[in-house]
Amino acid sequence: MTAAAPAYWPTGTEILRRFRRPNSRAEGVQPCRVVRDDERGLVLWLAPGTPVLRPVLADGRDIRDVPLTQRFDYYRHGRATRLDTWRGQGILVIVGPEVPWSVWLFWTEDWDFRGWYLNLEAVAERSEGDVTTEDHILDLIMAPDRSVGWKNEDELRAAVLGRHFTEEQADEIRSDGRAAAAVVAAWGSPFCDGWESWRPDPAWPVPALPGELQSQADYR
Ligand code: MG
Repeated sequence: MTAAAPAYWPTGTEILRRFRRPNSRAEGVQPCRVVRDDERGLVLWLAPGTPVLRPVLADGRDIRDVPLTQRFDYYRHGRATRLDTWRGQGILVIVGPEVPWSVWLFWTEDWDFRGWYLNLEAVAERSEGDVTTEDHILDLIMAPDRSVGWKNEDELRAAVLGRHFTEEQADEIRSDGRAAAAVVAAWGSPFCDGWESWRPDPAWPVPALPGELQSQADYR
């Protein structure tokens, strides 16, 4: 945390959630609204219709259009950014204090709860108006019945082969995933906190993406 950063943001503050990429300027940016911010962690709402920046291939295609064996070959497939809109229902993002993952809650457009996503990522770093992380590729998903599954294990292996992560880093990420699964097994926070029944304030406007970030986008 820099000296200029407030200890906590007031509810309703618009901030930017940034996903940096190692050795690349093609970061993802999601404007979010602060739902709650205190010693228990930072809770953010990514509203439907929010303008976002997302990393794409240098030619503008989606990263997943490239087969896994080539996806981390950055000489062949560099990265750029696309100005896009967050589609579907919004997500609630819970960034726990000093943990290498965030927890996302999904709903249908009729507000039926669809489950949790445990996104393994670098411990969040805050500055004045943003919170920055780096995606760690491997994820866990949890259905409303609390059954947990691993996601993107094959992509993490491909990331090691492509030297995006070292084998040691990948092992640490897997260990982080087991730690996150242990919180689920113990039904600790934030899972036990009842966020499934949370709803956004209907008076909140959709957050904006600052103009300089919009003009940085390679594709729109
Ligand atoms: Mg992820």
